Amino acid sequence: MTELLYMKDIEGNYIKEFDAKVVKKKDNYVVLDKSAFYPLGGGQPSDTGVLRWPGGESRVAEVQKKGIIKHIITGDLPEGDVHGTLDWEKRYGHMKMHTAQHVISGVVYDLFNARTVGNQIHADYSRVDFYPISLSDDDLKKIEDASNEVIQRNSPVKIYAEERESLEKRTDPLRSNLDLIPSSIKTLRIVEIEGFDVCPCAGTHVKSTQELGTLQITKKENKGKDKERIVYTLK
Ligand SMILES: [Zn+2]
Repeated sequence: MTELLYMKDIEGNYIKEFDAKVVKKKDNYVVLDKSAFYPLGGGQPSDTGVLRWPGGESRVAEVQKKGIIKHIITGDLPEGDVHGTLDWEKRYGHMKMHTAQHVISGVVYDLFNARTVGNQIHADYSRVDFYPISLSDDDLKKIEDASNEVIQRNSPVKIYAEERESLEKRTDPLRSNLDLIPSSIKTLRIVEIEGFDVCPCAGTHVKSTQELGTLQITKKENKGKDKERIVYTLK
C-alpha cells in the first residue's frame, strides 16, 4: 500500500516534494511507500515529475492506480530511497480546476436541478457534462455569475473522512452524486467548500476559493438529448 500524501487533509494537497522508499520495481514502474503524485482518475490527469536518488534521476511520466499505485518511469528505475518532485505548475492548475468543477457542478444543480454526468480537468481548461438540461446563452451567463459569486466568498475548502451514514443524513445524495458510489464503501473522503458544497471526491483541491480567480465559461456543446457540456477556464 502506498500512503497518498494528499488524501488526508487539504494541507497534503500542497506537498510538492517528498522522500519515499521504493518498495517494488518491475518493468517500467516503481511502487513507493508514500507519494504526493496523483494517479490518473476521476476526470483528473495524473501528475508528472521527477524521482531523484543518490547517483541518478528519472522522469515520472504517469501514475496509475491499478490495485497498486504505479509510478511509470522513463529512464533508469531507482532503488532504495528517492526524493520525488511534482511538476507543480500543472498540478496546481489541476487543483484549481477541480475545485472550480465542484463550484460549477453545485451551481448548476442548484439553478437547474441537473446533475454532473462527466468531467475532464486540464490545467488550462476543463469541461463538465450535465443532464438533464438545455441551456441558453442567458443561462450560461447566470451560471458564470453564480459561480463567481461563490468563488468571491473566499470560502475555505476542507478535506476529511466521514461515514457514509452520517453524510446521507446531511446532504442531498443527488447533488453530491453519493448515490453513484458503491454501497460497499462505508467511509468517504469528503471535499467541503464551506457554506456551499459537500461532496465525496478523491481529487486534489485548493484550500480557499480565493485561489481560483475568475471563472469564465468559454463554450457549451450539445452532447445529445438534454445533455450539455460546459467548457470553462480560470483567469
Ligand atoms: Zn471532485
